[in-house]
Amino acid sequence: MIEKTNQDEIKKYLSDASNFQGNCNSVYFPENIDDVSSIIKEANKKKIPVTIAGGGTGLTGASVPQGGVVISMEKMNNIIEINPIEKYATVQPGLILSDFLEKINEKKLFYPPDPTEKKCFLGGNVATNASGEKTFKYGATREYIMGLEIVLPTGELLNLKRNNEIADNYLLNLRTDNNKELSIIIPDYISPATKNASGYYCKSNMDAVDLFIGSEGTLGVITKIKLKLLPVPEKIISCIVFFNKEKDALEFVRQARNISFDTRLRKDFRTIDALALEYFDERALKFLSNDYQQIPGDAEAAVWFEQEVNKSNEDSFFDAWLDLIRKFNGDEESAWFAVTDADKIKLHEFRHAISWKINEFISKNNFRKLGTDVAVPDIRFEELYYYSKNEATNANLNFVIYGHFGNSHMHLNILPDNNLEFERGKLVYRDICLKAIELKGTVSAEHGIGKIKRELLFAMYGEENIKKMMQLKKQLDPNLILNKGNLFYESLI
Ligand SMILES: Cc1cc2nc3c(=O)[nH]c(=O)nc-3n(C[C@H](O)[C@H](O)[C@H](O)COP(=O)(O)OP(=O)(O)OC[C@H]3O[C@@H](n4cnc5c(N)ncnc54)[C@H](O)[C@@H]3O)c2cc1C
Repeated sequence: MIEKTNQDEIKKYLSDASNFQGNCNSVYFPENIDDVSSIIKEANKKKIPVTIAGGGTGLTGASVPQGGVVISMEKMNNIIEINPIEKYATVQPGLILSDFLEKINEKKLFYPPDPTEKKCFLGGNVATNASGEKTFKYGATREYIMGLEIVLPTGELLNLKRNNEIADNYLLNLRTDNNKELSIIIPDYISPATKNASGYYCKSNMDAVDLFIGSEGTLGVITKIKLKLLPVPEKIISCIVFFNKEKDALEFVRQARNISFDTRLRKDFRTIDALALEYFDERALKFLSNDYQQIPGDAEAAVWFEQEVNKSNEDSFFDAWLDLIRKFNGDEESAWFAVTDADKIKLHEFRHAISWKINEFISKNNFRKLGTDVAVPDIRFEELYYYSKNEATNANLNFVIYGHFGNSHMHLNILPDNNLEFERGKLVYRDICLKAIELKGTVSAEHGIGKIKRELLFAMYGEENIKKMMQLKKQLDPNLILNKGNLFYESLI
């Protein structure tokens, strides 16, 4: 197994896409589960911190080490099996998402959870319970995980199959591969009823697989993943529509969301049932206008939606969307409709451009990313939106708003030019997160907590529940070696 210690060679493992910076002594590149287990056993014996690195596309510093050693999963990147009949795949965690999507597409299979940045690893996606634009219809990574192989922080191996290891109320009994029994007490807090990636997923009678999904690498190293797949949809229509009034665009999203929910409830799939419902505010459109000169100069907002169709219902869906666009004064003439694959790729590139241009801006100016990832119950969303916009405007900051508005989930990204603006931005960012908590929402709906949102997780759950999370970690990681610094401050333990 390769181990690198030269600081120039390991530089890329010392930060992630949030531009959070760290340090470590060496990086290991395991090629199989035995390699992983031996690094972990040795580190556990010597109490050396170990940080797991996926693709490094995370936005919270979660894969950034604070001393100790890093395990990069990049050499464990094989597809073990794709089963088109039973519709599942088994993969190693270092597999790059875009490579996986290409392979399953060849077999006419579909894996919906795709965070906008497709250079992430599937192991990283499981560890963060990643979601993406299609989450509005298809849910996050969690919904697609059928089984996990995990090396625990003690070096022991756990093989979990969905529906196999179920907690008895809040007690989870697990058995390792060498027959050691573990009785884990699950915290009994209630998480917000929104899209959520903040803290451990805990429920009474929960499935053990769910405990590890979204645990940000703090409970074990994922070494194998079994994923559920779907048949490729016959056809997807995709459209970006511009609005001259922000209020109309927000109302359009609200109605499209409600109709989609109603369609799913009634199982009457002849009308609107959006796959994705994404929003861009006026500032986001201006931020992109140099690269996309077709954006109408007077647009106050844009909404991107997608819908699955087939030959028999395509026209009726089209009409239903057109009616809704007209009802809310959307600009039909300037709308971008994509039906061919090539057009759809262009619309996806547009959606992607906003995220990576922000990341380019912050790394060029060398600031840490200040982008909210808040979600609230649908009924409180517009309150959160206007509150956030006013806070950032009143602080005289440059910012853009976009995000997964179908899920009432908003990214407000602050674009500071100097330290004073960065410091003011931090206060605005915090105020928005506290507002989301007040509205019964979450401080992170998809990116996770990592090392940059620990105070906010504390504010969201309170000291008692954070201590329950820490006790859960301690049961599996008695020497607290794994992914030190994610979720909570060790000093609290
Ligand atoms: C431009 C851009 C757009 C993005 N858009 C979205 C989006 O729409 N939705 C979304 O959810 N995210 C989004 N992200 C964030 C990011 O892509 C996801 O969080 C992704 O899941 C991280 O995967 P990764 O492999 O890069 O993980 P890393 O950043 O390397 O690590 C993330 C966490 O996973 C842990 N980890 C990695 N591998 C393992 C393993 N094998 N076992 C245990 N723990 C492990 C790490 O220790 C760390 O805690 C975006 C990022 C960028 C840069």
